[in-house]
Amino acid sequence: MKSDRALPVAIIGGGFSGTILSAQLARRGIDSVLIDGSGRAGKGVAYSTTEPAHLLNVRAEGMSAWSGEADHFASRFEAQGGERRGFAQRRFFANYLKDILDEAVASGHVQLLHRSAVGANRRDGQWHVSFDDGSSIGAAGLVLAIGNQEPESLRAFASAGKCWIGNPWGADARAAVEKLVQGGGAALLVGTGLTMVDVVLSLDSAGYGGHIVALSRRGLAPRAHADFEPAPVDAADVPHGSVRSLWRWLRTRGGTVGWRAAIDSLRPHSHALWQSLDREEQRRFLRHARPWWDVHRHRIAPQVAGVIKRLVSEGRLEIMAGRILSATETDTGLEVEFRRRRAAAPSRMTFDFAFNCTGPLHSMEHTKDPLLRSLLDSGQVRPDHLGIGLEVDEASHAVGGELLWALGPLTKGRYWEIIAVPDIREQAAAVADDIARELNA
Ligand SMILES: Cc1cc2nc3c(=O)[nH]c(=O)nc-3n(C[C@H](O)[C@H](O)[C@H](O)COP(=O)(O)OP(=O)(O)OC[C@H]3O[C@@H](n4cnc5c(N)ncnc54)[C@H](O)[C@@H]3O)c2cc1C
Repeated sequence: MKSDRALPVAIIGGGFSGTILSAQLARRGIDSVLIDGSGRAGKGVAYSTTEPAHLLNVRAEGMSAWSGEADHFASRFEAQGGERRGFAQRRFFANYLKDILDEAVASGHVQLLHRSAVGANRRDGQWHVSFDDGSSIGAAGLVLAIGNQEPESLRAFASAGKCWIGNPWGADARAAVEKLVQGGGAALLVGTGLTMVDVVLSLDSAGYGGHIVALSRRGLAPRAHADFEPAPVDAADVPHGSVRSLWRWLRTRGGTVGWRAAIDSLRPHSHALWQSLDREEQRRFLRHARPWWDVHRHRIAPQVAGVIKRLVSEGRLEIMAGRILSATETDTGLEVEFRRRRAAAPSRMTFDFAFNCTGPLHSMEHTKDPLLRSLLDSGQVRPDHLGIGLEVDEASHAVGGELLWALGPLTKGRYWEIIAVPDIREQAAAVADDIARELNA
């Protein structure tokens, strides 16, 4: 059935993805309702931090929110005394996004709705979005821009009680950081990627003087950005269809032009490369190559790397490869048994708090999000072929639904590299064009 074009488009999720899409639609004269129940509309998870220590991990020159306007963020950063090849504070980027959202709202084309969506159904030619307070709205089209899901809960910590911080972005995590600063006990970070780096920075900048253990299977931590001579490649010169061949190419090319130049030269080709892998090859990538890919591809600002290096050299931060065996809450804290990689015997340590830094949930099947659950259960969306996001077509339409799109991390099964601003802004512009086409069809 045709949609009621007098209704707005409902965008669920007010992080970077939803915000820039609403602004893109406003530029096209299309009305939208931007829905976010977390109080973070215009910021989302990544840019809600107010901590000066939390820097962007992409240079200012790469952080424009607008497709086709490369300088949009960098010129603002420069005007404030920053450098285009520098790394702004994430809260500075949040202000930039807020201005974009304010302008879109002022245009009269965007309405903000501070509510959590718990269900959505299409009937009688429109979407009906329902909220946790029992209210609902109608919409011509629906966009899911709900970002990453909370990390998977870890079985070893099932009886860890209040010492276990399952969501490193929540209020419990902030309270745990404060208690650690006051008490000075030890902290365990499970996971050694970008989330671990954020928690370490929070602890360090709050004045924490205790001992931090960061542990993951391989103990790989994000590498630092540094200047290099770019070495662009043509798509035809990169092997497609095989993880092994791609890896071999990266090693050889890295040996000639440097690993940063080699890995960054794949950026323009990353979606085509991912899509050239069949399901088994994509699974192989996720199983074996992903930890290496992530730490080399998603690098941290040199200043941030400097803090990590300093803490390691002072013996205050230990980054290790190993496996958690058990975690038990005791009178003195959380007793954790773990085995270091290649160690014959397990080790035991007591921590005041342990943080889940394993990164976003990577399995649609395990989602606890009521909105996603209801859409999945009613067959209006379905998991992608890897089960890590939603199945979408080449226009980011969610397969199974009518006038339904997904944006950002939810679409990683199709694109893989669709979590950072430079990728999402292009997707948002394309989806806005598609919405304009479909609604006017
Ligand atoms: C800590 C961190 C730092 C990052 N730093 C950078 C960086 O420096 N540079 C870069 O390019 N990328 C960075 N990224 C990656 C990237 O910018 C984010 O992944 C991107 O912002 C994703 O935005 P999003 O809007 O899709 O998701 P989110 O930011 O997660 O926003 C989704 C929003 O949807 C809301 N929501 C969810 N479900 C519902 C519901 N049912 N009803 C209503 N609202 C709902 C949530 O409350 C949330 O506010 C970072 C990511 C993180 C996590």
